[in-house]
Amino acid sequence: MEDCLFCKIIKGEIPSTKVYEDEEILAFRDIHPVAPVHILVIPKKHISSLIDLNEEDEILVGKIYTIINKIAKQEQINEKGFRVVVNCGEDGGQEVKHLHFHLIGGKKLGTKVCN
Ligand code: AMP
Ligand code: ZN
Repeated sequence: MEDCLFCKIIKGEIPSTKVYEDEEILAFRDIHPVAPVHILVIPKKHISSLIDLNEEDEILVGKIYTIINKIAKQEQINEKGFRVVVNCGEDGGQEVKHLHFHLIGGKKLGTKVCN
């Protein structure tokens, strides 16, 4: 996807602070962190949003959660806890149309999941 911001980050056309990368998945620090740890975990394959996932992506999504588990330990937020957020579509507040998982932690987060 030529105009996709995260595809450009994957291709290295836009810089990012990477924390994990393999052939299928990239994780990098959010440019506007809402907590001490705020990392975006994305598939390298362009999938526009959660609602565009297909059955063939099930293994990939499972792998993303395994990577989130690893990164949480790497960032030392595994013991105190953290939150994983996926915004989907307009009402869900999704700004970048490339599926991404927010990994947020490093402080006590609010108890509400939405506002
Ligand atoms: P969402 O609102 O769920 O689509 O989240 C998009 C996220 O991408 C926001 O938290 C932004 O701060 C983040 N973001 C936008 N541009 C960049 C960038 N160039 N590098 C890292 N994170 C970015
Ligand atoms: Zn993309």
